[in-house]
Amino acid sequence: MKDQKHEFSIQLPLKGIVQAVTELPDPVFAEKMMGDGIAIDPIDNVLHAPFAGKITQIHSSHHAVTLQQGDVELLMHIGLDSVALKGRGFELHVAEGDQVQAGQPLITFDADLIARECVSVQSAFIITSGQEIKPTVSFDGVQSDLAQTVFTVPSSNDPSAAPAPFESTANVDAEPAQYEVTGSVQIPNVTGLHARPAARLAVVVRQADAKVRFKANGNTCDGSSVTGIMSLKTKLGDLLEIEAAGDDAQQVTADIIAAIKAGLGEEVTAVTSFPEVELVKETPLLQVKSGDDGVLLGFTASPGRVIGKLVQHNKTLPEVTRKSIGLAEERAAFKASVKASVQDLQSIIERMTEQGQEELADVFNAHVQLLQDPELSEKPLADIAGGQSAAWSWKLAYEAQAETLAKMDDPLLAARAADVRDVGLRVLKKLLGVDDGTEVLQEGTILLQEDVTPSEVVALDLSKIVGLCTTHGGASSHAAIIARSNNLPYLVNVEEAIKDLEDGTPLLLDAKHGKIKVSPSAEEQTAFALKIENASKQAEEYRRDAHKPAITTDGVRVEIAANIGSLEDAEKAVAAGAEAVGLLRSEFLYMERLNEPTEEEQADIIGNILEVMGKDRPVIIRTLDVGGDKPLPYMPMPAEENPFLGVRGVRIGIERPSILRRQVRAIISQAHKGHARIMYPMISALDELRAVNALVREEQKNLGVEHVEVGIMIEVPSAALMADKLAEEVDFFSIGTNDLTQYVMAIDRGHPALASRADALHPAVLRMIDMTVKAAEKAGKWVGVCGGLASQPEAVPILIGLGVKELSVSVPALPEIKHKVRTVSMADSISIAKAALECADTSDVKNLLRSQ
Ligand code: PEP
Ligand code: MG
Repeated sequence: MKDQKHEFSIQLPLKGIVQAVTELPDPVFAEKMMGDGIAIDPIDNVLHAPFAGKITQIHSSHHAVTLQQGDVELLMHIGLDSVALKGRGFELHVAEGDQVQAGQPLITFDADLIARECVSVQSAFIITSGQEIKPTVSFDGVQSDLAQTVFTVPSSNDPSAAPAPFESTANVDAEPAQYEVTGSVQIPNVTGLHARPAARLAVVVRQADAKVRFKANGNTCDGSSVTGIMSLKTKLGDLLEIEAAGDDAQQVTADIIAAIKAGLGEEVTAVTSFPEVELVKETPLLQVKSGDDGVLLGFTASPGRVIGKLVQHNKTLPEVTRKSIGLAEERAAFKASVKASVQDLQSIIERMTEQGQEELADVFNAHVQLLQDPELSEKPLADIAGGQSAAWSWKLAYEAQAETLAKMDDPLLAARAADVRDVGLRVLKKLLGVDDGTEVLQEGTILLQEDVTPSEVVALDLSKIVGLCTTHGGASSHAAIIARSNNLPYLVNVEEAIKDLEDGTPLLLDAKHGKIKVSPSAEEQTAFALKIENASKQAEEYRRDAHKPAITTDGVRVEIAANIGSLEDAEKAVAAGAEAVGLLRSEFLYMERLNEPTEEEQADIIGNILEVMGKDRPVIIRTLDVGGDKPLPYMPMPAEENPFLGVRGVRIGIERPSILRRQVRAIISQAHKGHARIMYPMISALDELRAVNALVREEQKNLGVEHVEVGIMIEVPSAALMADKLAEEVDFFSIGTNDLTQYVMAIDRGHPALASRADALHPAVLRMIDMTVKAAEKAGKWVGVCGGLASQPEAVPILIGLGVKELSVSVPALPEIKHKVRTVSMADSISIAKAALECADTSDVKNLLRSQ
């Protein structure tokens, strides 16, 4: 009985004085442009769900949220003009797509801040689905019972039935109207089309004898729906496309453009198009440039020398045009691109399987399945038939599907969004004629990309690719770490001029010294080949002694451990003389998985690693350290403005203890197979350490296991500063110089232009290490270093001179670091370390080391 009307109850959403909406000092609300409703002058700061339903929209400024059940849609707008706070003072407790219960807290807000900085803290509760409200409380009285009904609306929702499922009204074309593109306009509103301008725009549309829809940012909405317009999530400068059908189509389009240009009730700068600001190229004051003809500089991300030929993978896509060149041609191009992509994927799968990387092959298998799913091609084929280009139709379809998936409640489905985008891009590149990097490469390829992700490095065909260069990228990024563990020379931040070179240009890549010689002469090539040969002989010598201990010339033994990310690494580490594992990056074990490994699966692999290392080689297993530049496909994380300062490292385990608990149980249950130690990443305060320690001790008890040593990474300045307090509650520290440098120097470890300035040899970083070691010594605890600095041979005297007891290094660096320790004395190292602490800058530290 869908049409039978009931009284649908809206409970009190916010404690306060309930008022008539006409009292609000904003005509959009007071004149009911968005719909009927009430106002509340709050006496509390928590917004609650006034009925059970689905959160269909949350404004990016977090001040407005839309709740829907069946045919009732309510917009809750906290404060007036509070959009300008851009999220300051609002704490969300729900996400778009969440199903909520009546009374459930939705948003906590800072009422004082809103009162101080905005027009008013009075809040609006507007029925945007069109019904008139019937108040059930008297206005101007204080209401504080959240279960109290404040008004009702007629609805076909049956109050005795379970909440009706969400029926989207936005983004859907109700009737198959013959829309035509009638115009477009740039949004001049500083905060985009949020509630108030959206309401005014919908009024313009509703007045016309035409159907209108808007498109922006890949989304489409019904032009008469306020919430639909809000759902476009427009920002200043976004292009709003207008499509209209009906007699008034042209007139309404002109009215819409005029209303938008006039600001829809907001003050806007009189811009119709935004002036193109031409950025004049300048030479930065601190730029590193070779100045040498034919030599390009970069920054070492993974050392090594190779000779090879350049192949550039262009990642910047040309503009996607919408205009079709002909139905048959576009359809054929689409089918051919999908087919070629499937073929590429199949050859990747074959290679992965041959290399024993079945897990990774599974990821690409899933991509093939996606491409073969008719659902994904249905929409683009229809759009192509409707006269659009194949590239445009495909891009629209896969982005929309990815967006829908990303919003799913089910984390597994949400994680599929990344796969849809990945595979979507692969086909799109084919359609645009852009090399997608999957063509058959020649042996001896030096690959150039703008930037590279950790999973792209994992997928590189190392039988063909001998070196890697990026014009962006950071030396201690996780992509760099993977390159190092694969012994792949990798230079980041290479001078932009490299992009002008033709594919096939011969290069001498000296990643250790941050240099590339372009088109070398025959003599230069011979001399370079000789250097490679000598270095390889030297490496062979180091390898011969790799199983001997690393003892300084004056008899001090330093433990040399390995950084590993897989069972294979563990085997290689033992072969290369590792005396321990100083860092098992547990997240690397699961990077290519589409779902979270079970406790048993985790236990299995940890147990195998412990067995390979044996009882005499302790293994520090770091708990999951994702976030920042390390996403996990099966763990969708909400977008954050500063992911490196967000829910990253141990904070994920704190937010989602069940994941941490499964991992901790897997480790503890296997501890008997070797010598397991547990380490937490990115601890920044004592309460975090205590929280996770309590969980570990609890599981130790549950599993009946005696003490398992626990340690923390020191990679945040607050941890180094508070090391004396933290030391009392751990067995050891391990310094993560990659992150420590990033946070001390305030330079993103993957920053495209600042790589050369994020140097762990900066005295500020060294002073943090010194502070940490001194604090640990007082508490009788030992300190290791597992960040990239430990793998740099020249840094060895400084680190051991500062009192670091264990150096945990990339597997290929093990023999050379051991060798380096044997060449220095502890007495000299102590004085070098002291002098380094007194240096004023990185260059001084480097000069000091050179002078030794
Ligand atoms: C570090 O930050 O130095 C470290 C070892 O951890 P990761 O590189 O994995 O962040
Ligand atoms: Mg780190």
